[in-house]
Amino acid sequence: MILFKKTDALHNYLARKKEHQQKIGFVPTMGALHEGHLSLLQYSVQENDCTVCSIFVNPTQFNDPADFKKYPITLEKDISLLEQHATDVLFLPDVHEIYPGGTTQLRRYELGSIENKLEGYYRPGHFQGVCQVMNRLLDIVQPTNLYMGQKDYQQCMVIKKLQSLIGSHAVLHACPTLREPDGLALSSRNLRLNAAEREAAAAISQALLSIKKELRPGPLQPLVATAKSLLEQHRFKIDYVTIADAATLDEVNGWDGEQSLVALVAAYINEVRLIDNMLLGNNS
Ligand code: AMP
Repeated sequence: MILFKKTDALHNYLARKKEHQQKIGFVPTMGALHEGHLSLLQYSVQENDCTVCSIFVNPTQFNDPADFKKYPITLEKDISLLEQHATDVLFLPDVHEIYPGGTTQLRRYELGSIENKLEGYYRPGHFQGVCQVMNRLLDIVQPTNLYMGQKDYQQCMVIKKLQSLIGSHAVLHACPTLREPDGLALSSRNLRLNAAEREAAAAISQALLSIKKELRPGPLQPLVATAKSLLEQHRFKIDYVTIADAATLDEVNGWDGEQSLVALVAAYINEVRLIDNMLLGNNS
């Protein structure tokens, strides 16, 4: 694996690959790598000639400075995992490399209604930050294929919108969510859970599964209420539990048996905010 810290050196290296018609797969991350990240890398390694992983904890997408400060960093372990998983290139820029003009005067993106729903509502400015870093990374890497996790369902929708705004032709692959045996979606933030919190955290996927199991045509509020009460029993502070149209993320209160739906949760267990989602019904 080759490690690049500088944009120009990486850009030149990849330009030579592209001259030889090589396919570039790209997996952007914030590090503290787990099996979920590694699954994205596996897809990329299978489908491309060169796989690039970036590790950059992007300050502009954290609406809560405490969350940014406490974001886990496990760089040595990450490097060894990347090497074990046949990653060709690690891009490890510092903040000046990504934002040479600073972080205060960055472009704002017209993302439309997706920007202020759910994650966007509870984390104001988050998706602008995601777009700022992804626009820069896509410019630098110019991948053939881009691998992201369905775990961040709304983020995948935002990236599709960003691609249309900036004319990026990378093929976006929204890859399935990897879970612990008790159902908890793998997440770097799980490292911040103590033993009791970790045990309770499985309630998130149980809440989503209860919705999936009980889904039938008709009103959906009772399903949401059951899921919320399960989370409250485990002392979660809920941001949202919702069932939404899978294509727009508009809330759906009654199901016709046809519409493609997704159930989404964001909730705090003490200081740690976790998110998860599950496709329902016809598209699950
Ligand atoms: P992050 O480092 O949290 O920014 O995540 C980097 C990429 O990994 C994003 O595209 C995430 O959606 C994806 N990802 C995070 N958790 C999982 C998971 N449990 N399964 C699959 N992909 C994931």
